[in-house]
Amino acid sequence: MNNSTLERQIFNFAHPATGEIWMLHRVVEQRSEKPEQRELEVTPDWLEEKILEYKKKGYTFAPISRMPKIGKWVCITFDDGYRDSFTHALPLMKRLGVPFTVYVTTGFIDNQMPMWWYPDEEFGISTQELLLLDSEPLCTIGAHTVSHPKLDTLDRSKQYHEISASCQQLEELLHHPLEHFSLPHGAYSGDTIEICQELELQTVVTSWGGRVRQRKKYLPYPRINIVQP
Ligand SMILES: [Zn+2]
Repeated sequence: MNNSTLERQIFNFAHPATGEIWMLHRVVEQRSEKPEQRELEVTPDWLEEKILEYKKKGYTFAPISRMPKIGKWVCITFDDGYRDSFTHALPLMKRLGVPFTVYVTTGFIDNQMPMWWYPDEEFGISTQELLLLDSEPLCTIGAHTVSHPKLDTLDRSKQYHEISASCQQLEELLHHPLEHFSLPHGAYSGDTIEICQELELQTVVTSWGGRVRQRKKYLPYPRINIVQP
């Protein structure tokens, strides 16, 4: 065992994992044939079964703003701002009574900007759908930049714009503060963390890292990528 493995084991022992933040993207009836699209898609039936399985195991489903400190818990999140967060995820979550977060890339609203991983179709949520989604008590809207870049490849001022402008646009649209943020591609640098802290974002999530452990530092929360087989 090398030193860093030992250090990690000690850290993990002192900071037990408390819960999981699930990262999802699309909820669709019919999954795509293309692997790069298919891995972003789950069917409502499959997701329902997974949630029920976790409920049976004693997990609590919590909103991102109130992650429990103890016990077994899950926060469900959907990235990007697809229409199906409104048409498919919302009805399912309402039926199961499960809170969830939708992180919206503001450029995708009303398909102002294409989602380049879906070159032939337009799946961006509309302003009207976003307003309806936001009015649902179970749903939290978070920001996910303006144009979905890898933030760690941008200089500080460009990063600042991507993060703050997406929060501001959503605040203007929804008429309430935006407090939660998801890092596109999970990517970030030291600057990113400073900016998020400066903007007083309550939580920031990345795309990997497994289960959530207790910590004192302001850092992105890890998530678990939920992929339907
Ligand atoms: Zn994304």
